[in-house]
Amino acid sequence: METSDGPGGPPAAARTAPTLDELDELVVSCRACPRLVAWREQVGREKRAAFRDQTYWARPVPGFGDTRAAVVVVGLAPAAHGANRTGRMFTGDRSGDFLFAALHRCGFANQSTSTGRDDGMVLDGVRLVAPVRCVPPDNRPTPDERRRCAPFLARELELLAPTLQVAVALGALGWNALLAALAGQGWAVPRPRPRFGHGAAIDLAPVDGGPGRLTVLGSYHVSPHNTSTGRLTPAMLDAVLDRAAALTGRERRPAPPAAPPTVRQPPR
Ligand code: SF4
Repeated sequence: METSDGPGGPPAAARTAPTLDELDELVVSCRACPRLVAWREQVGREKRAAFRDQTYWARPVPGFGDTRAAVVVVGLAPAAHGANRTGRMFTGDRSGDFLFAALHRCGFANQSTSTGRDDGMVLDGVRLVAPVRCVPPDNRPTPDERRRCAPFLARELELLAPTLQVAVALGALGWNALLAALAGQGWAVPRPRPRFGHGAAIDLAPVDGGPGRLTVLGSYHVSPHNTSTGRLTPAMLDAVLDRAAALTGRERRPAPPAAPPTVRQPPR
């Protein structure tokens, strides 16, 4: 395995990372994009007022979840005061609140709220990843930055391949990055590439006609821009995740019992 200090640095070394743990170590050590390194650290120094007493992660964010996942959820990039603060994908902001609540309803998460790396969240059967691992200014990574970071997503998909059955792309950037990575790994991605849309689905087979299938599903991103306007509702995201669960043979977990009603004591 090439060291992270070798030619090309961590993204190049990622191509041969033997395990997800070793891939994660390469991710968090990466400083390959000067603009994003400067931005993630600036956000971590300046902080949002509500988090001024916290130490921001301010580094690249590795994937989070089941290392034998059947479903991978591909987002965009860490959020400035969410994952760039907490160090865990989708954790600590409104996008994550929306996503983790849905993952819990659909049986992929043991709890519905996600506040930090030590909050007890466990994902079962699903892993959360991003095509760009550092927070970009205005949520807009440049094409060069996307290209430089691509080996991390590609290797993560390769390492998950033995168990992976469904990939859910949140938004067009995740969709395009995912299809590009899969095309490079021997999946027969149609040309021209299918366009992203909420509810879009593609069934992929290996180019060489070998066994194995992978389904790619599209969902609008869980950003507040989409969820606060009703463009993406909880029911819409549940439908996508339920479809992913069904494709992997999972039963939807029954809803947890409602809390018992509060019994008012009569005044003494
Ligand atoms: S965006 Fe990716 S390639 Fe660029 S510094 Fe962050 S982890 Fe490294």
